[in-house]
Amino acid sequence: MKAGVIAVQGDVSEHAAAIREAAAARGVDAEVVEIRESGIVPSCDALLVPGGESTTISGLLADEGIDEEIRAHVADGDPVLATCAGLIVASRDAKDDRVATLDVLDVTVDRNAFGRQADSFEAPLDVTGFDEPFPAVFIRAPVVDEVGEDVTVLARWDGDAVAVRQGPVVATAFHPELTGDSRIHDLAFFSEEAGVGSVDDSESEATA
Ligand code: GLN
Repeated sequence: MKAGVIAVQGDVSEHAAAIREAAAARGVDAEVVEIRESGIVPSCDALLVPGGESTTISGLLADEGIDEEIRAHVADGDPVLATCAGLIVASRDAKDDRVATLDVLDVTVDRNAFGRQADSFEAPLDVTGFDEPFPAVFIRAPVVDEVGEDVTVLARWDGDAVAVRQGPVVATAFHPELTGDSRIHDLAFFSEEAGVGSVDDSESEATA
């Protein structure tokens, strides 16, 4: 499988490593490419929109025409993992005119919602389907505010939704690439709900 990481800014190499690790654990051969221009997204089986600054990321996606490519990718049912600023960019509304949201995830977000309380922190997070808590690193993180009816909340912190799924899109308010734990990348790209890792579906069923 080919995974594309939007490489405008953010933890590109950490995400690439987590994707490779999750793929290897599933016995999937993964190629990771960095995306800074249009024309690459259509060849990717899975996409990652990392953290950074949502105003910058969304502006560049729009300038380069990558925004439309991501919308088409999601419309095709192909998986996306959006983290932190990526969640903000993926949302329906970031309540901030400086962010051109992709509207591929039916949520609204509050940018920097934790910022007032704690700039960054790590928390053991219970995530639906995980046996052990996930070590979640929050860095000037948003929280999910309104959640559309097709959106499943996968994790909450202090009552607020911080990990969600809608169809092929998984989004986290935290940074899953910083702790060497690739379960979120696995969930987004290789789990049964995502279904890309299984290049050959019959084979994955046989080994399941
Ligand atoms: N606060 C940033 C924003 O609003 C997101 C921070 C992050 O990605 N770690 O875009």
